[in-house]
Amino acid sequence: MIDQVVILLGPPGSGKGTQARRLSADLGVPHVATGEMFRSNVEDDTELGRRARGFMESGRLVPDELVTEMLFVRVAAEDCSCGYVLDGFPRTLGQAEALDRGIEGRWGASVASLEVPDAALVERASGRLLCRNDGNHIYHASFSPPASEGICDQCGGELYRREDDVPEVVAARLGVYREQTAPVLEHYAQAGHLLGVNGDQAPDEVYRTLRAALEGESRENSALEGSTTEGGE
Ligand SMILES: [Zn+2]
Repeated sequence: MIDQVVILLGPPGSGKGTQARRLSADLGVPHVATGEMFRSNVEDDTELGRRARGFMESGRLVPDELVTEMLFVRVAAEDCSCGYVLDGFPRTLGQAEALDRGIEGRWGASVASLEVPDAALVERASGRLLCRNDGNHIYHASFSPPASEGICDQCGGELYRREDDVPEVVAARLGVYREQTAPVLEHYAQAGHLLGVNGDQAPDEVYRTLRAALEGESRENSALEGSTTEGGE
């Protein structure tokens, strides 16, 4: 899958970042995560980063145009010349429309949405245990508990729960997300290319489902273009 933009959508806690990293490694194209893109622009003190900081410091939302501009600067880089996996973008209808205009005629875009019920997301988040030494050491009170309570298996560090991982806060966060992204999902569904992926399974299963959905779609597209390369993966 070359010359392909993959847009991965999914609610917070759906495992989208993990899936996006794995997909990017397998496809050999960069993982473009908007959160990281923001941080690096602010840290490197770029012109766009300075403008974004102005909004953040005054507690305002960074406008769609600025986020979109940052994204287009990022994907114009050499390493994105064969495609990229987008994680965290587009988040609003305005961003989705800007992206359509930006990639029109140059890229095929696949849009996959990880579907996980809110109740499962709340359960995942509210059982999450993090290690004080290393943010990558993550446990779950019911699904993957540490061998001894409160202690990290990997480094012996102390485990803790994040304050905003309590059910009410998680549910509120999801409400905001659903409200904002419903028009984005609708937009891609109307254009006829939204791939729904069951995200309520083990991560390996989610990944297999995601790959199968993307491959199914690219086969369909080459069939439409009258290509005879089917099966040539
Ligand atoms: Zn640890």
